[in-house]
Amino acid sequence: MAESQKPSTKLPWYSEGLSFECTQCGNCCSGPQTGFVWVTEEEIVQLAKAIGMENDLEEFERKFTRRVGIRVSLVEYSDGDCIFLDPTLRNCTVYQARPSQCRTWPFWASNVKSPKTWERTASNCPGCNHGTLYSIQEIDERMDRDM
Ligand code: SF4
Ligand code: SF4
Repeated sequence: MAESQKPSTKLPWYSEGLSFECTQCGNCCSGPQTGFVWVTEEEIVQLAKAIGMENDLEEFERKFTRRVGIRVSLVEYSDGDCIFLDPTLRNCTVYQARPSQCRTWPFWASNVKSPKTWERTASNCPGCNHGTLYSIQEIDERMDRDM
């Protein structure tokens, strides 16, 4: 008889939830380690609207995005800062229209994988382990959206 796998009943290490409250320090939007900020077509439209360029999407894409293989990322300044990070105030100038990748931070699978990866994330993101407590369901929902 073929053996079937029993579903695991073990709860993840963050089953009691994790706290997070953004301090608006700008760390995750700046510097050479920032990496790509992926955007979908729909997010591009929302971002263009946010800065009054909804009637010139082609120009928006030319100025603010770049193709990376089959995906599209926002561009950054030469120092690695996101193009939408205010260089003086260090806040996001398109906050209400920010892409899913920014909305789901810091609850990315790579950050929440283990206590160690979470603490590493917290060492760069002062909002981690402070403020609002997010439940396991809220964390999992954000991780799903980040995939
Ligand atoms: S690093 Fe954390 S606290 Fe700082 S802006 Fe990003 S999310 Fe907010
Ligand atoms: S879009 Fe806004 S939140 Fe996202 S990386 Fe750029 S500045 Fe940060």
